[in-house]
Amino acid sequence: MEQSESCLFPVEDALEMVLIFDKTGKITYVNAEAEKKLEYKGDLCGKSICDVFPNDFKETKEKDGFITEYPFASKELQNLVAYRKNLTCFPVEIKIMQSNKRYICMANDTLEKEYLAKQNIQVKQEAEQAMKVKSEFVANVTHELRTPVNGVLGNVRELLEMESEEKKLRPMRTIERCCVDMHKIIDNILDFSKLEAGKFTLEPRKFHVRDMLDYVKANHINKITEKGLEFFMTVSPQVPEYVIGDELRIKQILNNLLSNALKFTSIGKVTVEVLKTAQVNDTIELFFIVIDSGIGIDKADKDKLFQSFSQVDASISRKYGGTGLGLNISKQLVELMGGRIGVESEKGKGSTFSFSVWVGSCGEGDSSQTDIVHLSPTPSFMEDGYKEQEDSKQFGTTENLEALKKNLSKLLLCVEMENWEKAEMFMDTIRQLTENAPREIARVILRLKMAVQKENYDKITAGCEELKNLLQLKEV
Ligand code: ADP
Repeated sequence: MEQSESCLFPVEDALEMVLIFDKTGKITYVNAEAEKKLEYKGDLCGKSICDVFPNDFKETKEKDGFITEYPFASKELQNLVAYRKNLTCFPVEIKIMQSNKRYICMANDTLEKEYLAKQNIQVKQEAEQAMKVKSEFVANVTHELRTPVNGVLGNVRELLEMESEEKKLRPMRTIERCCVDMHKIIDNILDFSKLEAGKFTLEPRKFHVRDMLDYVKANHINKITEKGLEFFMTVSPQVPEYVIGDELRIKQILNNLLSNALKFTSIGKVTVEVLKTAQVNDTIELFFIVIDSGIGIDKADKDKLFQSFSQVDASISRKYGGTGLGLNISKQLVELMGGRIGVESEKGKGSTFSFSVWVGSCGEGDSSQTDIVHLSPTPSFMEDGYKEQEDSKQFGTTENLEALKKNLSKLLLCVEMENWEKAEMFMDTIRQLTENAPREIARVILRLKMAVQKENYDKITAGCEELKNLLQLKEV
C-alpha cells in the first residue's frame, strides 16, 4: 500500500470499500474494509482492478497497457459484481471518481441490503396473506352467523304476532331486540373485513336524495320522540332531486352518525344539514352535517375516533353499547367516495360530525326553496320532551320540575320492564336536569345512578321515592 495515497484520502477506516487505481488499472491503494471484504491479506495493492470486477473492466490493447471500457468516472451509483480473491463474488453498489490520473472507486456490499429487502418483502407478503386469510375467515363466519340470527328473528316476530299475554311478550321483545342488535354488529364486522381485505365495491345508481333522507329520518323517528329531542333536517335547494351514487352506503354513513348523535344526546336537539358544496363537470360534492347537543368528545379523544374498535372510554361501551367500528367504516366508505369525514366537538356541549361525498349529478338543483323538516317532541307518555329546553335545564324552574317528573316516571317504567339501556338513558337526563341542584339532591341522584348501573330494582324505587319527596313531586 502506498503511504502517500492513503494520506491523500483519509479513508482507511471507512465503512465502505475504497480502491484507488491508475490509468493502467493497477490498484495503488485499498482501505481495510476492501481488503477484508475481498479477502486479501495485504496483497491487493498492485493487482489489477480487472481482478476485482472481471465482468465490467476489460483490458484493452493500447500501447500503455490497460484501460477499462466500463464508464469510468460517474456520479451515478452503478451495480456491479465484485470478486473475492477465492473467485467467489457478491453484488456491490459503486461510484467511481477521477482525480488527476487516478480513479477512486467506492463500493458498498449490497448483498446484506438485498437480503434484508427481500426478507422485508417476504414478511410483508406473509403479513398480507395472513391478513387476507383472517379477513376471509371473518367474512365467512359473519356471513354464516347471519342465517341463524335471521332465523331466530323471523320466528320470534311470528310468535310476537300470535302472542297476547304481556308476561310472555316481554322476553320475546327482548329476544327480538337482541337479534336486531346482533344483526347490526354482524353487518358492521362484515363491512369492516371486506374493506380491510380491499374487497369492497361501491354500487352507484340513480337515486332520489330527499327520499333517501326521508328514509333515514323514518329510521330514527322512534328514538327521537322516545328521547324527547328536537330534530331538524335541512336540505339546500342546490342539492339536485336525483344523483348517481351508492345510496345504500351514503345512507349507512348518515344512519351511523345520526344514531350516534341520538345515542349520546339526552337533552336538546339534533340537526342534519345537506348542502351541495362543489361541482366539477358532471360530478358534485354533497356535504352532510350532523349536529347534536349531547355529551361531546374530549379534544384528546378526537383523533382516536375514526380508528377501528375505538370508543372514547370503556364506560361508554358498557353504557351505550356499540363496537367502535361504525366511524371507521364510515371513514373508509367516505374515502371510497372521494370525500372526507371530520368532527368538531366540545365536551359536555355537543358534537358536529360532517362528511362529503362525490356523486354524479342529474341536472340542476330543482328545489326552489330549502327543505326543512322539524320534529318537535310530542306531549304523550314515553314520547314527550322539552319545549323549553333551556328552562328545563335550570334546576327548580317549573319546566325543570315538570321534566324531572316525566323522566322519573319513564325511568321507573323502564326499570319495571327491565329495559336497562333505556333506564340509563333517562337516568342521564335526570342527572343533567339536576346539575345545579342542592347537595342533598345531588347525593340522592348519585345513589340513584349507582342503583341503575347495578340494576338494583329496590334501591331505584327507594331513590325515586326519596327524590320525589325532596322535590315535592306528586304522582310520579
Ligand atoms: P360505536 O358502535 O361504539 O358507537 P362508533 O365508531 O360509531 O362506534 O363510535 C365510536 C365512539 O365515538 C363512540 O363509542 C363514542 O365514544 C364516540 N362518539 C361517536 N359519536 C359521538 C357523538 N355524537 N357524541 C359523543 N361521542 C361520540
